[in-house]
Amino acid sequence: MRDLLKIHFGYDEFRPLQEDVIKTVLGRRDALVLMPTGGGKSLCYQLPALQFSGITLVVSPLIALMKDQVDALQANGIAAACLTSTLAPEELRVRERQIAAGEIKIVYLAPERLAMPGFRQFVRTLPVDFIAVDEAHCISEWGHDFRPEYRKLQGLRADFPRSPVVALTATATKQVREDIVRELRLKEPRIFVSSFNRPNLTYRVEPKDKTFDRLARILDQYRGESALVYCFSRRDTETLSRDLTAAGFSALPYHAGLDPKTRGETQEKFIRDEIPLVVATIAFGMGIDKPNVRLVVHYHLPKSIEGYYQETGRAGRDGLPSECVLFYSPADCEKHRYFIAEIGDPAERARSERKLAEMVRFAELTACRRAFLLRYFGETDAANSCGACDRCLTPRETFDGTLATQKILSAVIRTGEHYGASYITDVLRGSRSADISARGHDRLGVFGLFSDTSKPELRDYMAQLTAAGYLGKEAGRYPTLFVTAAGKRWLRDRGTVSLTRPCEPDEPAAGRHSDLPYEVELFASLRDLRKHCAQKENVPPFVIFGDRTLIEMAYYLPDSLSGLRAITGVGEAKLERYGQIFLREITAYAQARALGARERPRRHRPETVRATSTYLATRDLVARQLPLSAIASARELAPETIVGHLEKLLASGEALDIEYLKPPPERFAAIEAAFRRSGQPWLTPVRRLLPEEYSYLELRLARLWLRDILDSE
Ligand code: ADP
Ligand code: ZN
Repeated sequence: MRDLLKIHFGYDEFRPLQEDVIKTVLGRRDALVLMPTGGGKSLCYQLPALQFSGITLVVSPLIALMKDQVDALQANGIAAACLTSTLAPEELRVRERQIAAGEIKIVYLAPERLAMPGFRQFVRTLPVDFIAVDEAHCISEWGHDFRPEYRKLQGLRADFPRSPVVALTATATKQVREDIVRELRLKEPRIFVSSFNRPNLTYRVEPKDKTFDRLARILDQYRGESALVYCFSRRDTETLSRDLTAAGFSALPYHAGLDPKTRGETQEKFIRDEIPLVVATIAFGMGIDKPNVRLVVHYHLPKSIEGYYQETGRAGRDGLPSECVLFYSPADCEKHRYFIAEIGDPAERARSERKLAEMVRFAELTACRRAFLLRYFGETDAANSCGACDRCLTPRETFDGTLATQKILSAVIRTGEHYGASYITDVLRGSRSADISARGHDRLGVFGLFSDTSKPELRDYMAQLTAAGYLGKEAGRYPTLFVTAAGKRWLRDRGTVSLTRPCEPDEPAAGRHSDLPYEVELFASLRDLRKHCAQKENVPPFVIFGDRTLIEMAYYLPDSLSGLRAITGVGEAKLERYGQIFLREITAYAQARALGARERPRRHRPETVRATSTYLATRDLVARQLPLSAIASARELAPETIVGHLEKLLASGEALDIEYLKPPPERFAAIEAAFRRSGQPWLTPVRRLLPEEYSYLELRLARLWLRDILDSE
């Protein structure tokens, strides 16, 4: 399995749960997979699809995502296609013919196609071995994205009762989970729930204080990278993106009020790395599968933890370190409260209020942000401290806060426990506002006692006192502060208390997206090269290579194709297609600076045959001199896979008698001549030098006898 992972996808290791899911479906058992965004769900069905002899159907709700996935599979040399309603009828017929002829291994389908009787009839004739349902929560009315067409999938399951079904989603409350199992008629599914922790994301909350300048400073550190800024309203996105553009960042706004064409173009430009920055409302994101978003900023407070988690989840899908920054001002709550007050249904209104209150708790948290998020989503065993959020990272200075606490608590009492944190802060800082003097609060002894302390700092103390249980917050529209029973006891007993002082916010660790001190300049030019290739092939850049792959190239500086093969994300198809051009760029850079290649440590080497039963089984059948087609059908594998086994066995020095498989002499001579002319081991150029009737399979087979002359890597 690991060999397939490396050969087809270029990865060394499985992510958590991937291997177990794959084994389950290959054992023909149904599965339900709950994994956060970026957890690597696609691989859970793409890899087993290669092992089944028939076709794998993948149901997915979003056409744009399907297209990207098909592009990515094709770049990895895997025969995939999608059938969507946007295809022209002729195009559709061509694809259907290819599928019927067995030329396509993985077929992506939009669910509404299944509602068409003719299409259902066509699907029924296909050898479907495996069905994957992506974004499976769409089947549930309880989910946030119900799609009635998903209900049609029951029929699909009925058409192929013996094929395993895997349902995958990133959102699943218990109710949605039960819905998926019931509606898809999953049979005793194994349920996989991965942690919702996103270890590569750093969470940070900053007070809203000269926010625009602060944002510009952060963005400055992410120049050349992709970033998303979420705003509250449509108008905010327009003004902010205009201001950012004026400040020298190229940004585009995105919201549901723009016409569909503009929206599509903006999305496309972002995905294709043609615009680094999108300023959006929460309308942006569905259908965005961009793996290398390095920064997600919330310019305003989101209205729920669910939304915040989902939006920040769009950062760092590729697993590289990425950052989430939330700018928080309690004033932002007012806007939400205004809308919440408009909600007619009282239960719904109360629910929204509760969600907002949780969001505020998160923003005002004095403890680990990640621990809070994970507990919110039911992971009760989350560690108390993550080491990768502002609360865990920023060193805070502890001081004797007894006096400060006395002043704050008495300000709350003296103003009659009628006001929120913002008003109390103003009184303590001695604000000359009309409200304060009208109420006579400027004559209180506590007025102006904190004139030297900044607003955010003072609010931070109050948040700490709230967390410590001395201050309480009235629920509802105006969260007024009161002193709790514990607070009153503390005042009476003249207790002591330690507070911590917030430090200057740390600079985000931009430009250091990796544990590897890579050549930054080379990385930039590899990125350009990637974009160039992507434009030529009309696919998004990440389809060519992911950021991690380019970073490794820019660190290990491979100087041969076999060195390049060791890099993560470089499978055989990509090595063949892009190996030479990327190698040329790397060696030119390295030679100009007299830098040598570094060997990449590998935990797993597919070149060396491990004692896996799959190779041994093939070897035994070869020893019995069975024809290739017979071995393939005995093993229920493609003949190409069998030849792949032979390549591995021979490369590892296995003594294997394969003479009986050699193509007839005159054909072999022609193939040999073509390989000699091309001078390279790649099949495509050789294929072009020969007449139509020579198949890739035959060339690959013949190549087994030509290893010595071609071993020029
Ligand atoms: P999801 O659908 O769960 O959001 P994806 O399937 O899109 O996640 O995968 C997220 C990213 O992780 C992709 O860029 C993918 O190529 C990468 N990835 C998946 N599995 C692995 C793996 N085993 N090793 C390295 N990268 C992986
Ligand atoms: Zn933390």
